[in-house]
Amino acid sequence: MAAKKQTRGKCAFCGKETAKGWMTRHLKSCEARAAAVEKADGKKGTEQNIYHLQIEDAYQKDFWLHLEMNGNATMEELDAYLRAIWLECCGHLSEFTFEAWSEDATVDMETRADKVFSVGAELLHLYDFGTTSETVVKVIDEREGQPMSEHPIFLMSRNGMPEVTCLECDRRAEWLCMECLIEDGEMGIFCREHIEEHPHDGYGDPVELVNSPRVGMCGYDGPAEPPY
Ligand SMILES: [Zn+2]
Ligand SMILES: [Zn+2]
Ligand SMILES: [Zn+2]
Ligand SMILES: [Zn+2]
Repeated sequence: MAAKKQTRGKCAFCGKETAKGWMTRHLKSCEARAAAVEKADGKKGTEQNIYHLQIEDAYQKDFWLHLEMNGNATMEELDAYLRAIWLECCGHLSEFTFEAWSEDATVDMETRADKVFSVGAELLHLYDFGTTSETVVKVIDEREGQPMSEHPIFLMSRNGMPEVTCLECDRRAEWLCMECLIEDGEMGIFCREHIEEHPHDGYGDPVELVNSPRVGMCGYDGPAEPPY
């Protein structure tokens, strides 16, 4: 699903909206974020390495996340987060790997993030070894200090819904026809009105477009909400 323009996202700290390409830079210089980090670091507790992760779908670059992840959290916690916000359909297997489809490059889910991550590291997350979702995880920064919340992962920004247009008119598309996709290899995306008139019903009800790169894959139907 190609959007007309780069998706934009909001900074969780100051609310500023920027295009994907600018968010990395913004988060590094955001004063509200710096203040939040300072406040977190004022709390009691053991310091740890905390990683800034830039995450995107390997093919649909309109879908991206900026997360902060605690070094003492396990990769399983990142897996659970990605499943909740983007991927989960029928409980498929998943893995993190430094190289796709190479057995020695797999990272054990029990491994702590600080044993895997360093600035510049890049991993691939694979979900479902049939209709596979591939997600690229890049470590773009790290800080030593206290986490932002009581959770192992903190959502700093995500893309807004890609703006896609109905195949029949100029309105925003909200529904996807699976028959168009599977039988004709076409992204059959329609507005509310045109999906009702659309003749296909061979693959059940149309799928609602939600903010996830897994729409149209396997039985995925959202909700594409962060777990916390
Ligand atoms: Zn900001
Ligand atoms: Zn599935
Ligand atoms: Zn329409
Ligand atoms: Zn159709």
